[in-house]
Amino acid sequence: MAFVIAEPCIDTKDGQCVEVCPVDCIQSLKTANQYFINPEVCIDCGSCLPQCPVSAIFEESTLPAEWKEFSEINAAFFRSGVSC
Ligand code: SF4
Ligand code: SF4
Repeated sequence: MAFVIAEPCIDTKDGQCVEVCPVDCIQSLKTANQYFINPEVCIDCGSCLPQCPVSAIFEESTLPAEWKEFSEINAAFFRSGVSC
């Protein structure tokens, strides 16, 4: 289980969550429209969750039904060659 960044991050992408992650597993690219959490590295500490001004971060099991696909979207970003 890991934390997941969902739809509200899109085009907000202010990076506030990145600064508090103790394992540096929240990443993005200039060309991407949101940040992503690496599920292989996230330690489920929850520190990022209260940082987000648009409530885009969820523990995976609490993702709203309409955003379930963001679990795979976050994981796929890191499979594409980006490393933590
Ligand atoms: S839950 Fe903790 S380890 Fe996981 S992304 Fe958020 S701050 Fe990083
Ligand atoms: S704090 Fe929220 S909106 Fe900002 S980059 Fe992180 S998940 Fe996206």
